[in-house]
Amino acid sequence: MNQPTYLVIGNPIAHSKSPQIHAAFAAQFAGRAEVADFAYDRLLAPIDAFAAAVAQFAENGGKGANVTVPFKEEAFRLSVARTDRAEAAGAVNTLKLLPDGGLLGDNTDGAGLVADVLRHIEVRGRRILLLGAGGAARGVILPLLAQAPQSLILANRTVAKAEQLIAHFQAATTIPLAACEYAAIEGEFDLVINATSASLGGERLPIANSIFAPNALAYDMMYGKDETPFLAQAREAGVSLRVDGLGMLVGQAAEAFEVWTGLRPDVEPVLAMMRAQL
Ligand code: NDP
Repeated sequence: MNQPTYLVIGNPIAHSKSPQIHAAFAAQFAGRAEVADFAYDRLLAPIDAFAAAVAQFAENGGKGANVTVPFKEEAFRLSVARTDRAEAAGAVNTLKLLPDGGLLGDNTDGAGLVADVLRHIEVRGRRILLLGAGGAARGVILPLLAQAPQSLILANRTVAKAEQLIAHFQAATTIPLAACEYAAIEGEFDLVINATSASLGGERLPIANSIFAPNALAYDMMYGKDETPFLAQAREAGVSLRVDGLGMLVGQAAEAFEVWTGLRPDVEPVLAMMRAQL
């Protein structure tokens, strides 16, 4: 196979669903000049050779790349230009080759999450509880604040990390923000987002059932064939609106596809296809 024009680069990478998602998006625009040379593949980059892999891809005519674990911060540093949302996230998941050969770094994870949440509830005026203060949480804060929620509370096991993030973002918004540990969460919330990796280990979070407001949306960034531990917790707390992160995955891919091609794909059929394949 000739070198593809688009890649997802990570380590490990074999599990990535991005090639299927982007192939389905490109098929929606068959015949259009913007996707005439669209070919998307995975690339396993050695842990210490991400920059070299990107340079070679660019040299061979690559146009854009998605970046996943563990290279998002390195992609941020490699980018000569960055979008505001990449700056806010401190990480890059989408690279676009600029005409002068430099790299534009973007981060579409937050936009993917917000687009998926908005398919279920309005965020404007709502109370948000974000659980976790790692890279994924950091990347979604600015796009969530752009929806003008009433407030956003960030809870994390290591509370100092949540406090740092809140101090950073509070400087740029009048929306009330606060950080706390799980045991200190007070009140109820309309949107509760799990951005921790606790579900990966099958672990539950030490949160009370009372944090969910009536008609709350419980959103887990994790997804899988089976119900995640966080969504099981939410179900047992009586929450009927429960959504996993597959829509966020497809949504961030749709944003990246648009960054590269200028074309906005239809997420719904691709999400349904990916759901059927879980
Ligand atoms: P990080 O490693 O950067 O952060 C992990 C977070 O989880 C930290 O807040 C950490 O708390 C917390 N945590 C880990 N284990 C536990 C536990 N047992 N109990 C309580 N808290 C815990 O990971 P990311 O931010 O990159 O990813 C977080 C999740 O989001 C992952 O499950 C990932 O798969 C998912 N994700 C999904 C995406 C999608 O498209 N659907 C996109 C990006 C991420 P502490 O600071 O105290 O260690």
